[in-house]
Amino acid sequence: MSKFDETLKIWFSGKFIDWKDATVHVGAHVVHYGSSVFEGIRCYNTENRGAAIFRLKEHTKRLFNSAKIYRIEIPFTYEEVFDAQIETIKVNKQQEAYIRPIVFRGYDSLGVHPGACPVECVIMTWAWGKYLGDEVINEGVDVRVSSWTRMAPNTFPALAKCGAIYMNSQLIKLEAAQDGYVEGIALDAAGYVSEGSGENIFIIQDGILFTPPLGASVLPGITRDSVIRIATDMGYKVVEKIIPREMLYIADEVFFTGSAAEVSPIRSIDHIPVGAGRRGPITERIQRRFFDIIEGKVEDPYGWLTYVYE
Ligand code: PMP
Repeated sequence: MSKFDETLKIWFSGKFIDWKDATVHVGAHVVHYGSSVFEGIRCYNTENRGAAIFRLKEHTKRLFNSAKIYRIEIPFTYEEVFDAQIETIKVNKQQEAYIRPIVFRGYDSLGVHPGACPVECVIMTWAWGKYLGDEVINEGVDVRVSSWTRMAPNTFPALAKCGAIYMNSQLIKLEAAQDGYVEGIALDAAGYVSEGSGENIFIIQDGILFTPPLGASVLPGITRDSVIRIATDMGYKVVEKIIPREMLYIADEVFFTGSAAEVSPIRSIDHIPVGAGRRGPITERIQRRFFDIIEGKVEDPYGWLTYVYE
């Protein structure tokens, strides 16, 4: 049984088709070489105005940036892809959803050079609960430092969210799960803290927030950016800097950020408790502000929400 909460329609290169018909041929370039770029976006059911997509502009921009880095020409404009994501939520009559736009090289030939393989652009939306588990937001997760390293510079470009990179993410995640952890934290090729298999990371020490810079093989996370802005506006100092592994063990608080993981506290790393071994107070304050904005409980001062049905 599939774990998908299937919706009615999928937007497949310009047309809405039934969920079950949205298939690709096994000879498609993406199946063999992971030639895809994608996004993960959340749509929240806000208190007074219904469905609102979080930072759709930035996610759509990052999708186009990822494609540009990989020389993939998306056969739709930014505006078309932006609008199609809103339409997919509407067609599926959703208030809350996870949105997955994916651009991939399709079926024509299987040389590494993609030749005339068509570029397809697909948008799926479905209901997806808390990524790291329901309790995590309050309780925090137990994680390990991965034995796997994130991409070295000039191998896989970390700023692009491409399908193939998630083979590295799978190594990190599978190893962590096998050993009883919820997630792994990968180091970069120089041995400094990079990110989780699908999350950016923040460390709090003496009231200051630290997060690895973009040069540490991290995805330029949109939740990361949101937390930097929220925390700064709340009066916290946020510093992007190289983080040695051992700083994880002596930090007062550590948390993950991501569209799927949202803001998830980390309560232990390699069995060493983080701070008091539970969610810390600054993490809690930032989480509350983040959730208040995305759930429409307070005004969205940043213009981050795109309302679907207005
Ligand atoms: N790093 C990786 C490897 C990811 O897959 C994700 C999820 N997209 C993130 C960080 C967090 O990015 P965002 O906040 O934009 O979802």
